[in-house]
Amino acid sequence: MLLRHTPKEITERTALTINPAKTCQPIGAMYAALGIHGCLPHSHGSQGCCAYHRSALTRHYKEPVSASTSSFTEGASVFGGQANMLQAINNIFTVYNPEVIAIHTTCLSETIGDDLPQIKKKAVAEGKVPEGRYLISASTPSYAGSHVTGFSNMVKAMAGMAEPTGKKNGKVNIIPGWVEPADMEEIKRITAMIGVKTILFPDTSGVLNGPLSGEYKMFPEGGTTVAELQSSGDSKGTLALGEWCSADAARELDKQHKVPCSVLDMPFGLKATDRFIDALRTIAGVSIPEEIAHERGQLVDMISDMHQYLYGKKVALVGDPDQLIAMTEFLVSMDMKPIHIVTGTPGKKFEKRIKEITKDMGCEVNVKAQGDMFLFHQWIKNEPVDLIIGNTYCKYIARDEDIPYVRWGFPILDRQGHQYFPTVGYKGGIRLLEKILGVLLDRKDRDDTESKFELVL
Ligand code: SF4
Repeated sequence: MLLRHTPKEITERTALTINPAKTCQPIGAMYAALGIHGCLPHSHGSQGCCAYHRSALTRHYKEPVSASTSSFTEGASVFGGQANMLQAINNIFTVYNPEVIAIHTTCLSETIGDDLPQIKKKAVAEGKVPEGRYLISASTPSYAGSHVTGFSNMVKAMAGMAEPTGKKNGKVNIIPGWVEPADMEEIKRITAMIGVKTILFPDTSGVLNGPLSGEYKMFPEGGTTVAELQSSGDSKGTLALGEWCSADAARELDKQHKVPCSVLDMPFGLKATDRFIDALRTIAGVSIPEEIAHERGQLVDMISDMHQYLYGKKVALVGDPDQLIAMTEFLVSMDMKPIHIVTGTPGKKFEKRIKEITKDMGCEVNVKAQGDMFLFHQWIKNEPVDLIIGNTYCKYIARDEDIPYVRWGFPILDRQGHQYFPTVGYKGGIRLLEKILGVLLDRKDRDDTESKFELVL
């Protein structure tokens, strides 16, 4: 019982987080930056911060993550990091020659008050940025928000690269949010099937789920190109998938370049995927292709075949807001009961949205934004569940409480597959359902008496 000290009694806490359900902003900024082709993420702070950001991503994606750092020491901490940043820009373009350096701040550089836009201007004025090379930046203090906020801030910086020509490109921008590289691939497969030309950004497919070829490439083949980002200002619209991860960037394109945007839920599960497909169909002005209707039908078939094992099962969920909203809706649509839902990311509108989705479930729902894993565990102790869905940190709770558990979200540090198999769209819904049913039926097989132990389920 590794968490044996977690008490059942819940005490009101206002200034203490125990086992956070989030990580630091720059990790999200770094993940988003890796979705630009030829981009080197740069951490403006100490080497320790950068090492942590890189290792957090490498542990989840099982791929090398290259990033540079301003290497703050005592001097930069006192006098500011401008000199380090300017030197870093010079060194990076000289040694590695990326197309883009995507700079994010850290707690330390934010506390000092370093002004990144001003430092970027100075670097350009001093000729440290070669022709055809770019600097983008995001402010990512980790004492506010979460990794999701950092991701959103960097995606907004990417939207800032748009350079409209005034001539429409006939494409639709899709901002997928923080999903797996495999999910980004799946979104591209779906849009191609429907016949919508897209600019997907960021796009980490081919960057963080590449093959082992025996040859190290500092800048892998994948990623949204600079030309695509520049062209995003000429697109006919933007679909932002997720209020927390993607909406700010979409609204920025709308505000700056009059590219109209719609904010949708991430397409996890049946209903959210229906809305995504419908939005694509409307934009393309086409009927839904037979292949897509076929995939939807397969998901519906699987739900109806196995409904008896899903009905009424209580679920506890922890993760990021955009994913949790779609997952909660998916579970409710299958007559499951998500009753404990925690995200570490702030935002009271998350709680409101979950309450709306679960309002007809006929039972109490615990939901908290800016919550932690300690509270999540206490809720489970007070009202046990049949299933936990969340990141790797849930394994301690699942083991102590002996509850079936599906790994989903970020980070997953102890399993493989999330980079390669999508969970978005109808096909992704089938995979999610397979994983859920797998653990529920394994538990049934384990616990059934000999007389109830069945060959066919
Ligand atoms: S100091 Fe701040 S930015 Fe650096 S690793 Fe810690 S939380 Fe993240």
